[in-house]
Amino acid sequence: MADGQDAPKAQASAGNSDWAIEVRGLKKTYAGTKKSPPKEALKGVDLLVPRGSIFGLLGPNGAGKSTLINILAGLVNKTEGTASIWGFDIDKNPRMARASIGVVPQEISADVFFTPLEGLEIQAGLYGVPKAERRSMEILKRLGLEDKADAYVRMLSGGMKRRLLVAKAMVHSPPVLILDEPTAGVDIELRKQMWEQVLELHEQGVTVILTTHYLEEAQELCDTIAIIHQGNVVTSQPKHELIASLDQKMLMIVPEEPLETVPALGDLCGAEIREDGALYVSYKPSQTRVADILNAINAAGIHVKDLSTVEADLEDVFMQMTYGSDG
Ligand code: ADP
Repeated sequence: MADGQDAPKAQASAGNSDWAIEVRGLKKTYAGTKKSPPKEALKGVDLLVPRGSIFGLLGPNGAGKSTLINILAGLVNKTEGTASIWGFDIDKNPRMARASIGVVPQEISADVFFTPLEGLEIQAGLYGVPKAERRSMEILKRLGLEDKADAYVRMLSGGMKRRLLVAKAMVHSPPVLILDEPTAGVDIELRKQMWEQVLELHEQGVTVILTTHYLEEAQELCDTIAIIHQGNVVTSQPKHELIASLDQKMLMIVPEEPLETVPALGDLCGAEIREDGALYVSYKPSQTRVADILNAINAAGIHVKDLSTVEADLEDVFMQMTYGSDG
């Protein structure tokens, strides 16, 4: 990192781009060893992250998410392609590119020797933020840790330690923050707290990119979603478009009388009776019309008491996009 005197101010002198992150044709092949062959972890990734978005990077284990993040963070060298952060090319302008990004790691590795305030000051020093420009207390306050500024880190709760990691990633005021699995292994209450934190950062103007295993999390938080699978980006679009693009819908039919057996509805849709006693029929709108399903229901002698559609969710999209995963 910089040597101390003049911290690059990425936010003030934003690069010339509409994108927070712009990745083109990015490839990464890890060298092989005697025991394992070379591994092509990224096979030509194109990715555009809009400024101001909460961007979800999803994919099964081994898809290439960490590799991509580590290249952006300057921790792994790419093999081919280009990447820019806030308009700064990671090869041509590495210092500004790094100053534009903060990465919150997955692991909680608490600094037992320093208080939160000291830890932030040290981190700011590593990033070359001059003393007069440091905002350690302000950042701690922003993350609800101001009364813990001088506490022993080991006395902090799990949630506070995670927030401290976010605080550390913010010391140089990067416009882009990457959170790697921010809620892996935390309980529901803590997850909700982290979500609120992410939304607050977003409201403050930070572009947030998060990787997550929890599709519910991406569905709840993200406005744009990319799915990586086996080193390729298989889709990247606004969440609502992504879900709407899925050619799969479900109809919930509540019968007048409880059903004993699933009626025969033809080859084009699948039906099951669930615990609530309703009949759930899944179908592809491109192949089957609701009217045809209702005709078949009628023909089976079922009287319909109530009828509603169930929207597809991100999980359906993910299953369809990553079918055949090796991870
Ligand atoms: P994800 O974060 O989506 O789980 P990774 O980027 O960690 O995926 O891994 C992508 C692929 O690259 C995997 O097959 C993984 O085994 C491989 N890989 C990751 N890091 C290394 C490395 N340092 N050396 C060799 N192969 C690696």
